[in-house]
Amino acid sequence: MGLAETILSDLPDSPLSGLRRADALWQAYREGQVDSSTVITQSPERLGTTDWDVVICGGTLGLLMGYALVRRGWRVALLERGRLQGRSQEWNISRRELTVLLELQLLSQEELDAAIASEYNPARIAFHGGAELWVRDVLNVGVSPRALLDTLKAKFLAEGGHLLEQTGFESAIVHPDGVAVQAGGGFKTRLLLDAMGHFSPISRQARGSQRPDAVCLVVGTCAQGYPKNDTGDLFVSITPIANQCQYFWEAFPAHDGRTTYLFTYVDVHPSRPSLEQLFDEYFRLLPEYQDVALDQLQIGRSLHGFFPCYRQSPLQPKWDRILPIGDSSGGQSPLSFGGFGAMLRHLPRLTDGIHQALTAEQLNRSALALLQPYQPNLSVTWLFQRAMSVRVDQTVPPDRINQLLSAVFVDMEALGEPVLKPFLQDVVQFPALAQAMLRTSFMHPGMVLRVVPQVGVLTLLEWLFHYINLGLYAGLNQVGRSLRPWSKSLPPAWSYRIARWLDAWKYGSGGDYEDE
Ligand SMILES: Cc1cc2nc3c(=O)[nH]c(=O)nc-3n(C[C@H](O)[C@H](O)[C@H](O)COP(=O)(O)OP(=O)(O)OC[C@H]3O[C@@H](n4cnc5c(N)ncnc54)[C@H](O)[C@@H]3O)c2cc1C
Repeated sequence: MGLAETILSDLPDSPLSGLRRADALWQAYREGQVDSSTVITQSPERLGTTDWDVVICGGTLGLLMGYALVRRGWRVALLERGRLQGRSQEWNISRRELTVLLELQLLSQEELDAAIASEYNPARIAFHGGAELWVRDVLNVGVSPRALLDTLKAKFLAEGGHLLEQTGFESAIVHPDGVAVQAGGGFKTRLLLDAMGHFSPISRQARGSQRPDAVCLVVGTCAQGYPKNDTGDLFVSITPIANQCQYFWEAFPAHDGRTTYLFTYVDVHPSRPSLEQLFDEYFRLLPEYQDVALDQLQIGRSLHGFFPCYRQSPLQPKWDRILPIGDSSGGQSPLSFGGFGAMLRHLPRLTDGIHQALTAEQLNRSALALLQPYQPNLSVTWLFQRAMSVRVDQTVPPDRINQLLSAVFVDMEALGEPVLKPFLQDVVQFPALAQAMLRTSFMHPGMVLRVVPQVGVLTLLEWLFHYINLGLYAGLNQVGRSLRPWSKSLPPAWSYRIARWLDAWKYGSGGDYEDE
């Protein structure tokens, strides 16, 4: 019996069976056996009248979008296959990212304060045998998903939103004038939003046989009994590369204990570890990481997940009238598992964009594609992900990744908060990236050269393309700011399209960070 099996089988709610279900899916990914059955079909016949403007399938982040659209006066139905309730494990986020909920008037200040379950400062970044640095106000707020979703659910219903729980999406037929959704009694809608997460049947069909380019595996617990719990860890390693994996750790003070995560970036290879094996590693290394004996801890809950990442992200709509949002869209950075934070950053543009698309009847595939545009700031992060992982057949000195990260973070710290902080919040901007790359290349030329064979020349060339685009988008965003008032005076269809390009330049260059 492994450490994970021994410890997890003693916990309430038997997390072991959920872990093994996730492992079965992860194994299917590794073996290229993922179910991508047809759930979306098309019909040339007209649907006639529709009962809904928007049907949203999936009620975690889907609820945020649903409530934002109900507030704009649209008829919204939200379908959730289980009960719509957030998990008890907090989402960590930076406070500035939460202000969007106030700006969009989804929550009052009191309601937002009530959803914040914990807050701490400062947080550490440290690498095995290398640098240690501390930052403040980054991912230092713990939002209770349960409290947040409960409040939003009540407000969504009070403003006329329609919620169906225990109602799973089964399939949908796309007609020229609407979508017939098979779920519960059936729904006729103008637009279907897919918010069913990474493993959404719609995005699986859309991705087809395409295999993820990488996967982030994460396991962890929230426990009491730690001797020290007043600071956090954003990005820490305590070991060299082992089993062709570089392990990273995160730790956050939570309202009912301390959350610790072990995560690693891997490719989709059959020999990669299962989540249960990673849990064994987690329990083996946790005492060293947190300086605590396992038998001193009272584990409240365990957590696990795996996040398929695709170079071609965000996922482009494959059909008219269907748009992926949240995790199903692959819109978050391949570096982090901060999908809640990513959704909040994009909520203003998605709310405006979907509102305008419905108003101007811009619901065909090409018009909706403008809502999930190419974002060079997302694409450039692939190189970093690649630099933090090792292929199965690769021989890399055990401390290569630690040394590289240590050097890069020391350089970023020397360049100051405007360079370091956006990066830690998953926002990559051209000036900050250019400064960091220049400084690291100048200070550590040998180390930079050694990374080239590790990541591969093709990845590097691809990265260069996205990097140039990042600079281009940063420039275009400056021009775009002055075009915004003019775009509003155009006929609706043009106004919709131009506004989406302006958004693409802004968000694609990390320009949204300045506005927060
Ligand atoms: C261990 C872990 C820690 C995390 N920590 C953080 C963090 O600190 N900060 C942060 O920002 N993010 C964090 N995340 C990421 C965050 O939880 C996700 O990004 C977020 O939950 C994504 O929401 P979603 O609605 O897109 O997808 P999901 O959360 O996957 O929700 C999808 C919803 O769709 C429903 N659904 C699925 N299939 C159907 C169907 N057929 N019909 C109807 N409904 C269906 C599901 O029941 C579910 O409610 C973490 C994730 C994990 C796993």
